[in-house]
Amino acid sequence: MPKKDLILLALDESHILKLMDRALQAVNYDTAIASDMKALSRLLQETSPALLMVAETFDGHDGLVIVEELIERFPTLPFLMYTEKVTPGFANRVFRLGIGGYLAPPLRTDDILGTVEGALKHAHRVGDWLRREVKRTTSSLQKRAQISEAERSRLETVINSIHDSVMILDEDNLILLVNPAMCSSFGLDEKASIGKPVMDVIQHPDLRALIASNGDQDPLQHHEVNFPDGKVASAQLTVIPGIGHAVTMQDITYLKEVDRVRNEVVHTVSHDLRSPLTSVIGYTELISRAGTLNENQQDFLKRIQDSVKHITALINDLLELGSIEAGLDTRREWVQLEGLLRYTLDMLQGQIRAKHIKVQADVAPSLPALRANPVRLRQVLDNVVGNAIKYSNDSGEVKISIHAEGGQIILQVSDNGPGIPIQDQAHIFDKFYRGHNMDDQEGSGLGLAIVKSIVDAHQGRIWVESNLGQGSTFFIVLPVNSPTIPAARK
Ligand code: ADP
Repeated sequence: MPKKDLILLALDESHILKLMDRALQAVNYDTAIASDMKALSRLLQETSPALLMVAETFDGHDGLVIVEELIERFPTLPFLMYTEKVTPGFANRVFRLGIGGYLAPPLRTDDILGTVEGALKHAHRVGDWLRREVKRTTSSLQKRAQISEAERSRLETVINSIHDSVMILDEDNLILLVNPAMCSSFGLDEKASIGKPVMDVIQHPDLRALIASNGDQDPLQHHEVNFPDGKVASAQLTVIPGIGHAVTMQDITYLKEVDRVRNEVVHTVSHDLRSPLTSVIGYTELISRAGTLNENQQDFLKRIQDSVKHITALINDLLELGSIEAGLDTRREWVQLEGLLRYTLDMLQGQIRAKHIKVQADVAPSLPALRANPVRLRQVLDNVVGNAIKYSNDSGEVKISIHAEGGQIILQVSDNGPGIPIQDQAHIFDKFYRGHNMDDQEGSGLGLAIVKSIVDAHQGRIWVESNLGQGSTFFIVLPVNSPTIPAARK
């Protein structure tokens, strides 16, 4: 048999109380009677009533004040008021408090039962809705928790078996997952690290710098991480929408080593070639003094000299690149870029005239001086402006602008030449890389590699924007006061 609803009556002893009690019991409600405030409080705790009926005055207290307090403690309990006389003020307070209703004489059994039933029905509806909502929310939460647990353990298995180091962070940079490779790289305890802020756990400055960048400007950021034992890793920070970030790291020590050995070989070979080439040039100059040469012989000799000069220039470029990359460029003085540009344009005057190039230089007034190596910056200008002229069509236009912004000098060199194919743009700063559309132009592909290493050594940035058939703009940003001179590499 279903449990009967219990109606708690807080009415002072009177014939009304008896009437209510009898009427309710007659239609199968249970009733409990509170004789005073203490009893009311106890019964509320012990009996979980389905409805509370309170008189306008109960145990010497204002019934509406009692209800107002109880609503706070039992927000789902329906209340009914009983009053001897309905005044507009009383009715107003009842509605303001949101109480289910009130009863007043003349009391007929039908009225009592109808009002109680109405209040209970409404409360049941609210209760049912509440239970349904709670069930729905908890089951969806449980489901989410289950899915994420299952997903998490699958992900954990995958991540743990990856040879590379992996760490997953949430949006607040708390560690969600970290694999054994990452733990052993940084000496972490996997269990102790989970749930901790990553910056409390990772102390390595290179990795901290990568994480601090937060992947904001670039959804995928790279950073080299150097370990005290000489190992080098390439770390990436990738944004995972809706989760946070993934930090992944691969050991690139062997690649660095290959690069070092290759540079060393190139450097040694270049160095060893320079002396014999100087002697070849010397002897080609002496040949004509040893006797008269016919026209053919003179032509051959000229070709030999041109080729040897070309190889010598190439070797000098390689040696220079090696010394800049090795961090040997430590000279720093205050340099005015405008003055250097004038020298560059003077040097290139012959080519400018020969190709009828229109050059427009726009240098901002009172440009601040730079802390830099003037010889290297001159090389930068020679190469970038030289390329703009070299790759321009006859009668092309080259625009150069230099201005200062927020402690930086910004140099822009634009031309309306052939442009650089999109697939080449990421590689033109690599050694020996030449664009696919440049077969008819002479070059070694070393100029921009030298420019890039000089810009890097000055803590600057270089990039290109180019559209095929429309031209290219090279941007170089240099800090006015380049913070430190990089230490020479061993
Ligand atoms: P090089 O000019 O000797 O080939 P660089 O390193 O100076 O070598 O340039 C690399 C490549 O970049 C060039 O081969 C060319 O494809 C491309 N490049 C550089 N500057 C320009 C430019 N202003 N316009 C079009 N292509 C350019």
